[in-house]
Amino acid sequence: MGTHLSRTVAEGQAFMQFIDGKLVDALSGERIDVLCPSDGKVFASIPAAGKTDVDRAVKSARQAFDDGPWSRMPAVERGRCLTRLSLLIEKHGEELAALESRDTGKPIRQGKADVAGTVRYFEFYGGACDKVHGDTIPFLEGYTALTLREPHGVVAGIIPWNYPMQILGRLAGAALAMGNTLVVKPAEDASLTSIRIAELARAAGIPAGVFNVVTGYGRDAGAALSSHPLVDYVTFTGSPLTGTAIQQAAAINNRGVTMELGGKSPQIVFADADLDAALPVLVNAIIQNGGQTCSAGSRVLIEKPIYEQLAAALAERFSKLVAGPHDADLDLGPLINQKQKNQVAGMVVAAKEAGIPVLAEGSIHASAPAGGYYQVPVLFGSVDPQAVIARDEIFGPVLTLFAFEGEEEAIRLANGTDFGLVAGVWTSDGGRQHRVAKRVRAGQVFVNGYGAGGGVELPFGGFKKSGHGREKGFEALYDMSATKTVVFNHG
Ligand code: NAD
Repeated sequence: MGTHLSRTVAEGQAFMQFIDGKLVDALSGERIDVLCPSDGKVFASIPAAGKTDVDRAVKSARQAFDDGPWSRMPAVERGRCLTRLSLLIEKHGEELAALESRDTGKPIRQGKADVAGTVRYFEFYGGACDKVHGDTIPFLEGYTALTLREPHGVVAGIIPWNYPMQILGRLAGAALAMGNTLVVKPAEDASLTSIRIAELARAAGIPAGVFNVVTGYGRDAGAALSSHPLVDYVTFTGSPLTGTAIQQAAAINNRGVTMELGGKSPQIVFADADLDAALPVLVNAIIQNGGQTCSAGSRVLIEKPIYEQLAAALAERFSKLVAGPHDADLDLGPLINQKQKNQVAGMVVAAKEAGIPVLAEGSIHASAPAGGYYQVPVLFGSVDPQAVIARDEIFGPVLTLFAFEGEEEAIRLANGTDFGLVAGVWTSDGGRQHRVAKRVRAGQVFVNGYGAGGGVELPFGGFKKSGHGREKGFEALYDMSATKTVVFNHG
């Protein structure tokens, strides 16, 4: 693998999209400025794809699927390509971490963690390729019945800006492992690592047309992709509102969808919990990536006897948190853009005006440029479960605390939002660990921990408004394929 693939971003660099194995501009020549959230300044640009660009990418993926060899290749061969891709991503890890960090504003160590996660996705799915198999089914006398798992065909992936590289890795790893071909549309705010990884995929031996990336706005490129008649399956991560629009678009062609639509995840802390172990995890679960994490632990439910103690300990930690530029590698970086900053700041102001007590606020580092999208971490105490900040996804570094009395109330509060993505349960009582884990309506429940960000092996996805379908682990391979039943009549 040649070193020509190693690059740093040249100031003002015009990135290209990746279609049919080639770096290409938008047919219209239109471009979108790429801003660094740390200072709000333009440092690169991406093509603004329109309908015709999407059509070109989908047709390329269609042909690659229909003509092969990818979809018909022995699974072990596909697996080797994905394994080589994981090694290439690791090799280019420094560059990718720096690119992701500058593009999204996340601290550089988070960029590195995202590279490690992406490496793991392709490593896991590279190894899983030849381990997915069907069943033989006892059937009528004189017959043999069996099932095969077949790729859907062309998969469209529409991804958000919060963990672009990792989300690309999780959907592309599973989709490609099963023999699908792909058209990915990353978010207009964070497309750079998707383009680079598609390039690396080609270098890893994945044939042209199998892994395409179109860049552009959701209303143009995203809408054209989700409604394209040659797309067989759509997978989306992002906001519930956009998820609804994408499902409606996919329904025009009666296509299957996987939806990962965010959360309002509770962490339930009982009085018998190990608070020393819980404290740093509770803080990290909302501070990681500036709270712009679908699985952020944004609600902490605390049993009354320890409410004051834990609230005070959290307040002490929050008052020391510092936001700053991505390259300063502080507790958190800026938010992704001005719109997101306005949304989070607006929710914080409204909650303060509604009289919800602020227990602590962090600070913004003196080195933070004035044009960056910084939001101080905020800790709200004694929150009314009906308040807007208790129910709506904030997607920022804002933690809300609630007091409860006993297991029943804890479960009622935990389940009291429209979402159901992840939950944490902190208790040393073994029976309660099982009872609560079973009754909380969430796609993942962590007991005495909260590792939602990691674990490529662990199925992940939502109940209720958090979405449907499962990503990660083997479950994603089932989502990214369809069962075919074959029956032999020996009579
Ligand atoms: P979004 O859901 O609108 O965008 C996600 C992706 O969908 C982007 O690639 C975007 O271009 C695309 N898109 C937008 N409109 C589309 C359409 N009509 N058809 C097809 N694709 C379309 O997210 P946003 O506007 O950037 O953020 C809004 C809110 O969504 C945030 O404040 C946050 O609460 C939430 N969010 C959640 C997640 C998550 O991981 N669950 C990620 C990002 C944002």
